[in-house]
Amino acid sequence: MSRYHVKSFGCQMNVYDSERMGDLLAAEGHVAVDSPDGADIVVLNTCHIREKAAEKLYSDIGRLKKPRADGSRPVIVAAGCVAQAEGAEIGRRAPAVDVIVGPLAYHNLPELLKQAAAIPEDARGARWGRAIDTDMPAIPKFAHLPARRHQGASAFLTVQEGCDKFCTFCVVPYTRGGETSRPQADLVAEAEALVAAGAVEITLIGQNVNAYDGGAAGTDSLPLLIARLAEIPGLQRIRYTTSHPRDMTRALIEAHRDIPKLMPYLHLPVQSGSSQVLKAMNRAHTRESYLATLAELRSVRPDIALSGDFIVGFPGETEADFADTLRIVAEVGYAQAYSFKYSIRPGTPAALMPDQVPEPVKEERLARLQAAITAGAHDFNKASVGRRTEILLERPGRKPGQLIGKTPWLQSAVVEIPGAKIGDLIAVEITAGQPNSVEAVPLFTPAERTAA
Ligand code: SAM
Ligand code: SF4
Repeated sequence: MSRYHVKSFGCQMNVYDSERMGDLLAAEGHVAVDSPDGADIVVLNTCHIREKAAEKLYSDIGRLKKPRADGSRPVIVAAGCVAQAEGAEIGRRAPAVDVIVGPLAYHNLPELLKQAAAIPEDARGARWGRAIDTDMPAIPKFAHLPARRHQGASAFLTVQEGCDKFCTFCVVPYTRGGETSRPQADLVAEAEALVAAGAVEITLIGQNVNAYDGGAAGTDSLPLLIARLAEIPGLQRIRYTTSHPRDMTRALIEAHRDIPKLMPYLHLPVQSGSSQVLKAMNRAHTRESYLATLAELRSVRPDIALSGDFIVGFPGETEADFADTLRIVAEVGYAQAYSFKYSIRPGTPAALMPDQVPEPVKEERLARLQAAITAGAHDFNKASVGRRTEILLERPGRKPGQLIGKTPWLQSAVVEIPGAKIGDLIAVEITAGQPNSVEAVPLFTPAERTAA
């Protein structure tokens, strides 16, 4: 029996994968610990989406390989998208790594750890002295994973993986492979198990979650899956992320009108407000088609909260293109959004494009964009004041007695409710809007609610 620690970098897909690697290790009798310091096995579940994300892996390995007071060091596992993209190269750059496993092969982690343990001590770190699996198997890993042990009110559920879109800036199609969906029956079973273990909210996740088609037969769709999951008693809230504008079908849009458990929130990355830049990005949508999709959504669900991703400084982006991005932020009125400086990813078409934007220009544009996004989010939160709604309590707040919950629109809501606990759904009125959160007061105490 060993103590293990899984450290997750990057997106929600990695959070899910980290949890599942934990399930695999626990099924082998290993025990989770909160910090890498006391762990015998440390799994670094990496992200490759931007350059800095990959660099974090190497700085962590540098720390972990230093012998501890008793002379020991943990078994180091490099997992995730950097492992997939760099494969054996990681071993050359960081010889201390014992296991390299890609995001589609981690069901083999226990076997790889056994292989690594069998390598003689003096060969560890040598070129051949580590276990590697970066295959992209035809049989999905999900069939080989043990039952989930997730505890908590809110859970992620991977329904789809991979990407066929090949945006010119992005590594995902190379690290996660093509789009594959899990069968509906498996997802219903996993969701029922999560609810039985206390989950009241499930967020369906995928690199392009709205490309979900049910797997081999390809006859399912995300709105059909959501409708089926909404039948599960005890499941109160359903969310999904991340969606591609190209796959926002009419049926999915209408699900926001017809399925009360589907929360009024959509993360729909646009990347740029300039159709010219979108074309160079190979995004398969234009500024106009994106805005038309949002107009359709708002016509069926007027209160929907919108979120997005933006990249500034894509090769060839002019000041006029960037002005189009600022304009789309103002026009859409995002409830929140994520923004990034374009990061050159080796092997992607944009890495070789001319007119790379200088770093100081990227930085200056990012600062202006983030100021606009924050102002928009503040406006959205202020406009929520007076709304009566339910929040799902997720964690303690900073001050004693405070709890933080999520509104249906995914705002963090700060409340004080004596007697309430994490996981409760509480009726509140929003009383103030801050840049990154709202304040709320309960409409009933938990005791009053029970009595009613
Ligand atoms: N599939 C989603 C979509 O199409 O919008 C996005 C998934 S991607 C893992 C998350 C975000 O990372 C992207 O929306 C994009 O904004 C950002 N991203 C991807 N590649 C990037 C790069 N090379 N430089 C900067 N940001 C990048
Ligand atoms: Fe990357 Fe584009 Fe695929 Fe999203 S759609 S994962 S940005 S290639």
